[in-house]
Amino acid sequence: MNDGLLFIISAPSGAGKTSLIKALITRDASLSLSISCTTRTQREGEIDGVHYHFLDHTGFAQAVTAGAFLEHAEVFGNHYGTREADVRACLAAGRELILEIDWQGAQQVRARFPAAISIFVAPPSIAELERRLNGRGTDNADVIARRMAQAHSDLTHYTEYDYVVINDDFDAALNALAAIISAERLRLARQQSSLTELFSHLN
Ligand code: GDP
Ligand code: ADP
Ligand code: 5GP
Repeated sequence: MNDGLLFIISAPSGAGKTSLIKALITRDASLSLSISCTTRTQREGEIDGVHYHFLDHTGFAQAVTAGAFLEHAEVFGNHYGTREADVRACLAAGRELILEIDWQGAQQVRARFPAAISIFVAPPSIAELERRLNGRGTDNADVIARRMAQAHSDLTHYTEYDYVVINDDFDAALNALAAIISAERLRLARQQSSLTELFSHLN
């Protein structure tokens, strides 16, 4: 059996990656999203074990020491990490998985899984990014200022990704993400086993 495809999606905070990934998963049942661990404070409406596994600093540090993370990084003063066992189990079962992680985590995952496909989601403009962070209404002014200050350096990492999607019109960006995923599924290497079966019936 083929190992499942592993997608990495990164974006500056507020660019729309969480909304896009949610919409993508709703319309394509073979995709699932990895649930990260974080020390960030739980937002209104976020459910532990659904949006994130919320850990305190001690719990996070213990998981790091135990080698539980495929990657981990500090983003906006909080720690975030992806549990390796979850990722390996998902891929070994041939399922497709999306990692919604920052550029530091993306670098670590590429080093471990060179076949991972990475997609960078960019906002149409910095002004629109700020409007979206304010409009989302989940973060206070200090947090938004910190995320905006980080956006410039986040954006400079777009060159490390296989694909770039600009999230201006939401549906157009969603279609672009779906097209990337479809194309990756159609790569020759992934179809080889089906074709071998087809050709075996030709003689
Ligand atoms: P949002 O992107 O504005 O909704 O903010 P979040 O607090 O959900 O995420 C903050 C940052 O942490 C983003 O850059 C995420 O991509 C990143 N992040 C989330 N989960 C992980 C993870 O498991 N590992 C790493 N390295 N980064 C993560
Ligand atoms: P991220 O996960 O990258 O931080 P979110 O998915 O939380 O971003 O999106 C930030 C805000 O912008 C949300 O309020 C979301 O509804 C809004 N948003 C996302 N995409 C678009 C878009 N194409 N046009 C307008 N608003 C958008
Ligand atoms: P938020 O705190 O707004 O949910 O996420 C902020 C940032 O953290 C986002 O850019 C998100 O992609 C990143 N992030 C979330 N989970 C992880 C993770 O497990 N690893 C890494 N490296 N980044 C993460």
